[in-house]
Amino acid sequence: MQLPSLTTGLHTNIPMHCLGWPQEGIYRLLLNSLSLDVAENPCEFVVYGNGKAVRDEQALQDLLRLLASLREDETLLVQSGQPVGVFPTHPAAPRVVLSTAMLVPHWSNWPQFRALEQKHLTLFGQSTASSWAYIGAQGILQATFETLWQLANQHFQGTLSGRLVLTSGLGGMGCAQPLAVEMNGGVAIVVEVDPDKVRRRLETNHIHAATEDVQVALQLAKEAMAQGQPRTIGLVGNVADVYEAMVHEGIQPDIVTDQTSAHDLLGGYVPAGMPLAESRSLRVHNPQAYLAAARETIRRHVKAMLQMAAAGAIVFEYGNHLRGQAAQAGVPEAAHLPSFVTLFARDLLCAGITPLRWVALSGDVGDIYRVDRWLLDRYGDDERLITWLQWAQERVHFQGLPARSAWLTREEQADLLDFVVLGVREGRLRAPLAITRDHFAGATMASPHRETEAMPDGSDAIADWPVLNALLTTATGATLVSLQQGGGVGIGYSMHAGMTVVVDGTPENAKRAKQTLQGELRLGVTRYAQAGYSVAKTTLAEWQRGEPT
Ligand code: NAD
Repeated sequence: MQLPSLTTGLHTNIPMHCLGWPQEGIYRLLLNSLSLDVAENPCEFVVYGNGKAVRDEQALQDLLRLLASLREDETLLVQSGQPVGVFPTHPAAPRVVLSTAMLVPHWSNWPQFRALEQKHLTLFGQSTASSWAYIGAQGILQATFETLWQLANQHFQGTLSGRLVLTSGLGGMGCAQPLAVEMNGGVAIVVEVDPDKVRRRLETNHIHAATEDVQVALQLAKEAMAQGQPRTIGLVGNVADVYEAMVHEGIQPDIVTDQTSAHDLLGGYVPAGMPLAESRSLRVHNPQAYLAAARETIRRHVKAMLQMAAAGAIVFEYGNHLRGQAAQAGVPEAAHLPSFVTLFARDLLCAGITPLRWVALSGDVGDIYRVDRWLLDRYGDDERLITWLQWAQERVHFQGLPARSAWLTREEQADLLDFVVLGVREGRLRAPLAITRDHFAGATMASPHRETEAMPDGSDAIADWPVLNALLTTATGATLVSLQQGGGVGIGYSMHAGMTVVVDGTPENAKRAKQTLQGELRLGVTRYAQAGYSVAKTTLAEWQRGEPT
């Protein structure tokens, strides 16, 4: 695959591939999604978690060609990673709109989807893979930090210092866990069945220590807890064996969760009681036997978690479908475990504090640091934001185009946009920035097993909200709008909307960006208010009284 290069340089000197910065920004985000630094498997167009950015090589070349000649009064339509064509619209319309993996509800399941995919009619796009807004591992690190920050505030006076977090899985997403525990001052034992992964995470400073011995891990943890020092320990082992051993020995962690790939018992979750190589062979040669062993393991794994919960630990599912799998494996009481979304994210979302990410289209890290600096100066009293930004500056390794992700209040979002608009206009930023987000907050996502689980009015599966979200951001003139399904939890289980604004510094563009960001934020809080959350009702009332934006 031959991709054009993303050149850098001063704003006025940057060679453009397109006729204007909005189109150029989207062009760069598409290439960025598939760059070697960002994509999991660029040769197959896979960005992360099997989610693709485009259908195939031809589609990619066609998309780049059409974006390069796209005028400011035209809109490019994309159907599941393949261009449909360019349509005459107007400058205030989005430049690109995408619909990905959408199926008529009765057909919306994996077998039907796979059959259509085989016929080359659709693709699985996850969330930010097919909306070209993936920024690498920073997104999950930031979200995990927020989760644990909320937990610390709710239960431990704002710090995990002296607290033990027991979790598992050091994979692509799970490796953010020890870093986020460290950021919150705590001690973590992270169980991982694959010794190579533990070794790699040690080499890349995701963990401080590694061992194969439960007793050694416990000793290291106890010492660090006693000293109030953050410490993270990778423990080679199977989650079921280790969690059971902890219960047996009467070890009581403060917090217990896991991020093994429990959502995929055959492809991702490893049964206990057999060497890793043997399990890999069994997976291929006798999948039924593998699945039976995996179900038995998950049964033991979740039983141990329930026992730790009964003894007083804070236990929750971390978005990996653990409870559903355990229920099918004969542990129906797994349904009583709460999810991280309801426990630790929804209060923030109801208060209009939502995740945004911004990407330096110049490729210059200086643009990101300039925004960091401004946020640190302007919001020095927002401890959560400051803690995150300082850590991010030290520990986040930029992948592809430099980017930053943060959860911001309505006021912070509005101020950030103003700063970027002026920075681009007056040349303090070397090129326009793209402001985008994941598919998590408010009305952007309908996903009854995760983001919209346990809504007070029972509206978990109502998918009108992401459709309205996409219609609204189209009406307000976002640069890119997407409507998708299946992200995070698989085909049939979620519908969601994506949005990107490329901020080029012009007044008209700034007005549309403001309407887009503030509009979807208000829609999200309205969705929670209508579901019955009093915090969301209060937030809306405050906004309506004319609080600053
Ligand atoms: P991954 O497949 O890259 O990593 C999973 C890790 O678990 C692997 O390293 C594997 O060796 C290990 N593992 C598997 N079975 C094990 C066992 N029995 N005992 C110990 N270790 C075991 O997956 P990932 O990208 O890190 O994601 C992990 C899970 O978390 C997925 O199910 C994902 O959907 C979920 N997740 C949810 C959210 C969210 O809701 N916001 C975010 C991130 C990840």
